Amino acid sequence: MSVYNFCAGPAMLPPAVMEKAQQEFLDWQGLGVSVMEVSHRAEPFLTMAQECEARLRRLMNISDEFAVLFMHGGGRGQFAAVPMNLHLDDAPAVYINTGIWSDGAAKEAKKYTDVVEINVRDDKDGQFGVLPVSQWPLPEKASYIHYCPNETIDGVELFDVPTHPTAPIVADMSSMILSRDIDVNQFDVIYAGAQKNIGPSGLAIVIVRKTLLEREGVPRPGILDYAIEAEQGSMYNTPPTFAWYLADVVFKWLEEQGGVPAMQRHNKNKAAILYDYIDASDFYINKVDKDCRSLMNVPFWLNDESLNERFLALSQQAGLLALEGHRFVGGMRASIYNAMPVAGIEALVTFMEQFAQEHS
Ligand code: PMP
Repeated sequence: MSVYNFCAGPAMLPPAVMEKAQQEFLDWQGLGVSVMEVSHRAEPFLTMAQECEARLRRLMNISDEFAVLFMHGGGRGQFAAVPMNLHLDDAPAVYINTGIWSDGAAKEAKKYTDVVEINVRDDKDGQFGVLPVSQWPLPEKASYIHYCPNETIDGVELFDVPTHPTAPIVADMSSMILSRDIDVNQFDVIYAGAQKNIGPSGLAIVIVRKTLLEREGVPRPGILDYAIEAEQGSMYNTPPTFAWYLADVVFKWLEEQGGVPAMQRHNKNKAAILYDYIDASDFYINKVDKDCRSLMNVPFWLNDESLNERFLALSQQAGLLALEGHRFVGGMRASIYNAMPVAGIEALVTFMEQFAQEHS
């Protein structure tokens, strides 16, 4: 039986990546030792690190105006790093609230800087919606504007990018990085925890406009300091070397698949299969407005919620893992990142159809 893992994160990685890592596990590059056992300052690791950054720059079309950092502490590490690095004494940070993760980012930022929160949720009649970006009431002055293009828990994705005449735009791309084409130049800081589309948890990728490295910010740990990390090639302290290596294997796999444009086609196709089935069914519902439905995280609810436990038990028996919705929103959630094949979506829809027939 094939097993498909719909976990929101740490999420499934491409089987080809895992096999490559397994092959190389005990003997990396013919050194007779694992990549985990070599110095990050030795030539083989440094070369890998450089190639990895170059690959990410190619995949995302990142220009020299940006530094690319491989940092510790995952997504939440960046919830702290962003305000610490970008704080200005004379302007507040603006946090756009579109759901649970952007709200979490604002809460963390308040420890380090003044925060103005703007709620742009537009929920009506039990449907989750978001105001169009052009209608967001952004203030004239801000140290930066933070938003989350894909709310992993709420299943809400924003396809338009906010703009501001002066304030940098900061995006938490943890759950959509590399899943579809974006223009990096529309942003000033992009960050992402790795454990969805990149590799093992704990690693965070940060893409930061170099001009922002000059901001004084507030006193902060060296490992969360963008300027220090940029200057030291993300090796101020020992980096998460295995996670970095695995990210490189994932980036190679992405290049082989045809890069981000190919992923975008693949992800749109997968999401359409699932949403179309849910919309046509009277057994399941999705509560997110059609124009902001996530391509990566598809929450759905059974009309009869008393069947939830049975749905979860039987889906697990069928090899469809981790479909339970986040405890804050309930119901079910299928996370379908880059690594999820179409066959996984087809298996899920087949199971859902069968379950609906047997329980109607
Ligand atoms: N932001 C988003 C959008 C997320 O989905 C997550 C984790 N699921 C985080 C931040 C936090 O990431 P971490 O657990 O790596 O701190």
